[in-house]
Amino acid sequence: MSQTIRLPSQCLVVLIGPSGSGKTTWADANFRANQVVSSDRLRAAVGVSEFDQRASADAFAVLDEIVARRLKRKLLTVVDTLGINDDTRAGFVELARRNDLPVYAITFDTDAKVCRERNKQRARPVPAKVLTSQLASFERVQASLPEEGFDGVFEAGTIEIVTPAHLSAKDAADRQRENPMSLDFGLVVSHFDWPGGTEELAKRLADVAQRAERAGFTSLWVMDHFRQIPQIGREWEPMLESYTTLAYLAGRTEKIRLGALVTGIGYRNPAHLGKIIGTLDVLSGGRAMCGLGIGWFEKEATAYGWDWLPTSQRYDLLEDSVQIMRALWGKGAPAYQGKVHSVPEALSYPRPIQEHIPILIGGGGEKKTLRLAAKHADWCNLMGDPETVKHKLGVLADHCRDLDRDPTEIRASILTNLLIAADRAAVDQLVEQRRPESRSAHDFAREHNAGTVDDHIGRFREYAEAGVETVIVGMPDLGTGVGVEVFGEVINAFS
Ligand code: ATP
Ligand code: MG
Repeated sequence: MSQTIRLPSQCLVVLIGPSGSGKTTWADANFRANQVVSSDRLRAAVGVSEFDQRASADAFAVLDEIVARRLKRKLLTVVDTLGINDDTRAGFVELARRNDLPVYAITFDTDAKVCRERNKQRARPVPAKVLTSQLASFERVQASLPEEGFDGVFEAGTIEIVTPAHLSAKDAADRQRENPMSLDFGLVVSHFDWPGGTEELAKRLADVAQRAERAGFTSLWVMDHFRQIPQIGREWEPMLESYTTLAYLAGRTEKIRLGALVTGIGYRNPAHLGKIIGTLDVLSGGRAMCGLGIGWFEKEATAYGWDWLPTSQRYDLLEDSVQIMRALWGKGAPAYQGKVHSVPEALSYPRPIQEHIPILIGGGGEKKTLRLAAKHADWCNLMGDPETVKHKLGVLADHCRDLDRDPTEIRASILTNLLIAADRAAVDQLVEQRRPESRSAHDFAREHNAGTVDDHIGRFREYAEAGVETVIVGMPDLGTGVGVEVFGEVINAFS
């Protein structure tokens, strides 16, 4: 038995095999009816029946049209034709490329005798001579397939549909088992619409934090927003104020680090922010993180009456803030004269417990944000696939060289959301439970990086190989599911 074939949930699959080799049977067993575009069925749709050869040209015209339109929508599509026409295959490879989708060939190398036998059993067998010629073409096609530009050529067998993010995760998970790398993990709480409503919120939040701590997460984050952000939910969904929440969590946890991912720089007087974070550090026994970003949610800011500074000024304010806070957390009461904000006396006692509260600068903007991170940050926080992150870390290292700073001093973290369950069946079930009616299971799984424990181990191994040291995860099922506990297995694989 060959290995399980992993296919991404957005791709084109082209079946290739002679009549009776089992294409339609395999497609029907592994895909939903709408995902399979079959020339035979379209012959029945535009002609008299599946066997109406005179309707072939029309059937193929409709097939091309359907495949093109599905690929435009990035829908998983399986083409069930003989697949032995060279031009047709080349056309599909080209079409997939144009739509920026991977394309796979699945071959049905069924014994010729079996095909002939099956053919004979059929109510309307293909003429023996035609089948012989198909068998010969198939041999020839099989030989040329590796050179035809497919992203993979597989013999039909057991398949597993995974999110694109987890396509190469299996090999990466094997690498992690054989030669482990270490990573640490943070958890971001980015929504609070949990069962029990407002009355139970404090209790449930403490429970999430304590479970995260037990599972081995080493940092716990909240967003610094005043209403839910559109990427996650609606504006009237519950959102707790960040630093009040962190102070509460400081009292409810023991060892986990606490921070805002990330503090919007325009929302507080920078010295006041330094005072808040310094206090958090003292009350948490030295566990505060200082996450900073220039902010983006103008609507939220102006709704509360904050001035929304132009982008360049927000960058300047971020830089002022870093220096004001460092002065504030240090000895004495130095003055700081900034571009946007000045402080005559940066005085704050008690001084934080940590000698150096880590400053995280969030964002991957290559010219300004990463430059600022290279200049001032202890951590940088990025988003994107491993390749993108690797590139950004390269840019960060370039800035560091330019500024004469050692890039290894900056801890690289990424933020990603995910759904996790023990195995494929449990993942599929979780996706089915959580997805809104308007999203397909595949789309929802892809948007939330839904995967098994092994999928996530593999994916994070790829980030580790890209230079990432900390992975911060958000989980849409945080308030209800057991994702935190299940994720503990991923954490164990990297510790
Ligand atoms: P065509 O090109 O004519 O559409 P096909 O490749 O789609 O052929 P199927 O219709 O899937 O072939 O299969 C032909 C016959 O073989 C069917 O009667 C089916 O039940 C049988 N068959 C297919 N796959 C298997 C299998 N793995 N084991 C046993 N029988 C099979
Ligand atoms: Mg068929």
